[in-house]
Amino acid sequence: MKLPYERPTLRKLTAGALNKFGPRAGARAVTALDGVAVDELVARFGSPLFVLSERQLRRSYQAAVRAFGTRYPQVQLAWSYKTNYLNAVCRTFHQEGAWAEVVSGMELEKALLNGVPGPHILFNGPGKRRADLERACAVDAVIHLDHADELHLLLDVAAGRPQRPRVALRVNLDAGIVPQWDRFGFNLENGEAWQALGRIVAPGRLELVGLHCHIGTYILQTAAYATAAAKLAALALRCERELNTSIQYLDLGGGFPSTNTLKGAYLPASDTVPSLDEYAEAITGALLGAGFRSGELPVLVLEAGRALVDDAGSLIGTVLANKRLADGRRATILDFGVNLLFTSFWYDHHISPTREFSNQTEPTVLYGPLCMNIDMLRESIALPLLAPGHHVLVHKVGAYNLSQWQQFINLRPNVVLIDQTAQVHLIRAAETLEYLQQLEQVPAHLR
Ligand SMILES: *Cc1c(COP(=O)(O)O)cnc(C)c1O
Repeated sequence: MKLPYERPTLRKLTAGALNKFGPRAGARAVTALDGVAVDELVARFGSPLFVLSERQLRRSYQAAVRAFGTRYPQVQLAWSYKTNYLNAVCRTFHQEGAWAEVVSGMELEKALLNGVPGPHILFNGPGKRRADLERACAVDAVIHLDHADELHLLLDVAAGRPQRPRVALRVNLDAGIVPQWDRFGFNLENGEAWQALGRIVAPGRLELVGLHCHIGTYILQTAAYATAAAKLAALALRCERELNTSIQYLDLGGGFPSTNTLKGAYLPASDTVPSLDEYAEAITGALLGAGFRSGELPVLVLEAGRALVDDAGSLIGTVLANKRLADGRRATILDFGVNLLFTSFWYDHHISPTREFSNQTEPTVLYGPLCMNIDMLRESIALPLLAPGHHVLVHKVGAYNLSQWQQFINLRPNVVLIDQTAQVHLIRAAETLEYLQQLEQVPAHLR
C-alpha cells in the first residue's frame, strides 16, 4: 500500500537549551575505566590513547550468544575482522568461541595467525583474487561467492585440487531496507541466485554448504531480518528439493546497531535501538517457522561486528587549546581528530570530561589537531570549560575506528586493553617516525 505523503519540516535544535533530559544531559565526569584511573592511563601511555575493555568484549559476546542460543538450537558467531582486527580483540572473541569472518587475503592470513582453523574461516568480499582463492582452498576456508566471475575463477582453481572447495552463496534480497544493498552477492528476486546455485551444484566440483546474506549496517528494523531469514530459509528448502543438496548453515550476516547515536537523531540511541534479543527473536522466529523438518534445522551463523565491539572501546584525549570563533562560539582543539575517530562522520559520540566540574556548560565546537577544514569532531556539544591539559573521554569507539584510522599528519597512538583483573596491557604500540618511513626509499639522486 502506498504510504501517505508527509511534508518534510525543518526544525532547529539548539544545543545546550533546556530539554526534557535537562541542561547537563550526558555531561557527567568519568574518572576511571574498568577501575583504572584515566589520569593514570594517560601518565603511563600518553594521549591520545585507545582503551579496550576485555570485560565488555566478553560481556557483549556472551550476551549475543545468549540472545540467539536460547532461541535456536545451533548458533555460531563469526567475528567480522574488518570491524576491529587488533589481534588481542580477535583472540578474545576466538577464546569465547567465535569463528572468523574475513573479506580479504590479508584478513584471511591474520585469522590463520590468530590460530583459527581454516574450516572456521568464512571468506566474504567482492574482490578476492586468484591467489586468495587458492589460499582459501588450501586451508579449507569456506568461500562465500560474490559474483559469477568469481564462481568461474573458483571452478578453474578447483579443477586442480584433490578436495572439493566448500562454498556458500552470498545472496542479496529485498528485505524492505532502502536503499537495498544489491552490490554484494547474487540477487534473489531476479533469479540470479537460483541460477548460480545450479551452476555451483551441477559440475560437482564445489561443495555447497551455506547461504549468506548481509542486508546492511546499523539496521534498525528487526522485521527486515525476519524477512531476510525467511527468504534465505525458503531458498535452502528449494536447494534440498530441487538440487538434492542440504544446506548446512544460513548466515544472516551482521549489521546490528551499537548504541551509538547517529548524527541528527533526536533521542539517544540507547533509548531507541532495539536490543539483540529483539533481532534474535525476529531471525529465529522466521527460521523455526520456515518448514524445516525437526532435527534438520541448519546452523544459524551471525557475523555481528559493531554490536559486539563498539561499547568496549574508549578514546582518551587532551585539550590543546580553547578559542573563540568569529561569531563568538567557543571552540576547543583536541589532540585527536577525524584521523583517529573516523566514525565521528556519522555518530554523535558521547563525550565526557574526566574530572569534576562546575554546573556551567556552554555549547562548544570540538576540533581535532589536523590542519584540515573537515577535522571537526562535533558541531556543538554542551561541555564545561575544559582548560588546556584537561582530558576528555569518547565512549563507544571500538568498532571501525581502529581499522579505518589514518596515519595522516599525526602518528597513530598507543592502544591498551584492560583485562578482567584491571591489569593494563599495551596491545598496539604508538607508531614512530621510523615505523612510518620504514618502507620508503629515496632515489640516489635525491639523497
Ligand atoms: C562488515 C560486515 C559485517 C559486520 O558488519 P556490522 O555492521 O559491523 O555488524 C558482517 N558481514 C559482512 C559480510 C560484512 O561485510
